Amino acid sequence: MVTGTDWIRGGRSDFRQGEKLELVAMAAAPLRSATWTVDGRLTSKKVMAMTSSETGTKKAAVPLPSKTRSGSSSQTGQRPRRPRHPAEGIGRSREDSVHRRLKAFHEGRTGPPLRIIPIGGLGEIGMNCMLIGHYDRYIMVDAGLMFPDFDELGIQRVLPDTSFIHRWRDKIEAVVITHGHEDHIGALPWVVPALDPSTPIFATGFTMQIDESPVDGQVFDRVGLEQIGKEGVTLMMSDSTNVLSPGRTTSEKDVADALMRRVLAAKGRVIHTQFASNVHRLGSIKAAADASGRKMCFIGLSLKTYLEAAHKDGQAPFDPSILVNAADIDSYAPHEILIATTGSQAEPRAVLNLASFGGSKHLKLTKDDLVLYSAKMIPGNETRVVRMMNRITELGSEVIWGRGENLHTSGHAYRGEQEEVIKLLKPQHFLPVHGEFAFLKEHEKLAQSIGVRHTTVIKNGEMLGVSPLRNARVHSNGFSLLGKEKLTTMYNDGDKGFGSSVDLAVEERMHIAVEGIVIASVEIYRGDDHLEEEEEELDGGWEEIGPRGGIGGVDDGGMGEGEGDVAPEHEVRRGLRGRVRITTRCMWVDGGRLLERIHTEAVKVLRSSDRNTSLSAVERDISSAIRKVCRKYNNKRPEVVVIATESANDPNYGRR
Ligand SMILES: [Zn+2]
Repeated sequence: MVTGTDWIRGGRSDFRQGEKLELVAMAAAPLRSATWTVDGRLTSKKVMAMTSSETGTKKAAVPLPSKTRSGSSSQTGQRPRRPRHPAEGIGRSREDSVHRRLKAFHEGRTGPPLRIIPIGGLGEIGMNCMLIGHYDRYIMVDAGLMFPDFDELGIQRVLPDTSFIHRWRDKIEAVVITHGHEDHIGALPWVVPALDPSTPIFATGFTMQIDESPVDGQVFDRVGLEQIGKEGVTLMMSDSTNVLSPGRTTSEKDVADALMRRVLAAKGRVIHTQFASNVHRLGSIKAAADASGRKMCFIGLSLKTYLEAAHKDGQAPFDPSILVNAADIDSYAPHEILIATTGSQAEPRAVLNLASFGGSKHLKLTKDDLVLYSAKMIPGNETRVVRMMNRITELGSEVIWGRGENLHTSGHAYRGEQEEVIKLLKPQHFLPVHGEFAFLKEHEKLAQSIGVRHTTVIKNGEMLGVSPLRNARVHSNGFSLLGKEKLTTMYNDGDKGFGSSVDLAVEERMHIAVEGIVIASVEIYRGDDHLEEEEEELDGGWEEIGPRGGIGGVDDGGMGEGEGDVAPEHEVRRGLRGRVRITTRCMWVDGGRLLERIHTEAVKVLRSSDRNTSLSAVERDISSAIRKVCRKYNNKRPEVVVIATESANDPNYGRR
């Protein structure tokens, strides 16, 4: 079993009618199961509900394949086409005709028959999503998400370009999900509404690496692979995640043994943390709990979600109903309980992370606890995880972690296994997938070193054509770049927030976080003058409250600096009258002095503006003045928001 290693077979027989493309997704089992978990929370049912409501279709829009139906790997060749012809007419521009010719080249029935367009997952770890096609008929393999490394800015998920998927929906005849990890399945709630409502989705159960002694007894099918290799593989695509890790992954059985030893030796409570999706691992820890006479308890939602999904699919190692309720753990002696929990990546709201701060409702860590870290730190999370471990260690709990402990094995094949699979399949062409760009390059080198002649590395959006080599004497390089789509990365935040980085103001968030923000409210009065002495009151303050702004307010007359360079009276009367109020966030305001300076400048601009200046011109002039002040004062470039409004009454009249 190899996670995420999928390949296309396009031998002579497969192309006989010029129509059929056989996809073999290599996973724990052939495409046989319709159970999946999205994002640890949404179930397939919810995905369907979403499709129905967002496309306006009444019935469940995505037909879930039945167990009998989904066993076939050649489903996708059978559906009738729904061609979409662009409107014809005399008014069509020359650009249109160029576009049409390009389209004919990219999508037409000439050129290499096998086509690959990665929408995500190449040059990054996560967001796997790829179109694999025969001329213009495509299967989408995976619809994954990626977690941003700037999650503190509020963005929760990075998603593939759903507008591109929508544009190509008539060419996408099925979706195949290789396995139920978030980087392969997590974008479904956003991708499904972009697809044609009748597009079928096929999914597998749970998957693992090449494991000679897997805990579920399903041994890696070496003979089957060899057979496929003999029949001839046109193109192989393989997971590059661990290409830099030499040798082979350890067996899940070794992990089970290590967990067993640790649990049997423990005197007090045992707290176990792992990736929620690794249901086999839950079986191993349950066996250790049983052997040591401990009851098992889950604290954290996603463990239970995955176990229940596996249970429904008939693949769970035990019945979720035997679990002890989290609220009841204190009624057991420490040596009678084993707690499995979430938070192996120190996710801000996960139980183990909260417990490390003493902030978990059910899990209070003590010096007698043993914490088994049965996971790996995902690159990018190291600092966060180490800090969590520091906190747990300070609480006095014993932590068992690190590679030497054998408490975890990767779900991604190591270099030795990658090499073996390439040798078994002997592909004509090799395309590394699933990894950072440097990893893809490394994987390409590996394939070249063991004799694969045609290899290449492409990026998301690049459209690759592959021609099967009919005999050894064909000297084409087999690969050809057919085009490039400009893809837009999509984002999700909150519950519904969804769109491009522009829609979600990602750059602006970053800008405000780094540079701060200044807000100016300007009330303009264009009516008759009142008494001349009111000139001094062309001025205002912002009654500043709240912790973030600090002293951030200028009360009129409080500092007096604004009056220091007041223009002569006659100029004041010719200029605009009004009231300016300033506040800032995320900025150093130098004890209020910066605010005074900004205020003075804004007032100056107002006074020097012609009486008939439009509101938008006032806003523009004041904001450029504010920018200048901030740059001069502290070399900062904050976001500046100026809101000017007309006031029926002189806002300064009678204020003093
Ligand atoms: Zn993956």
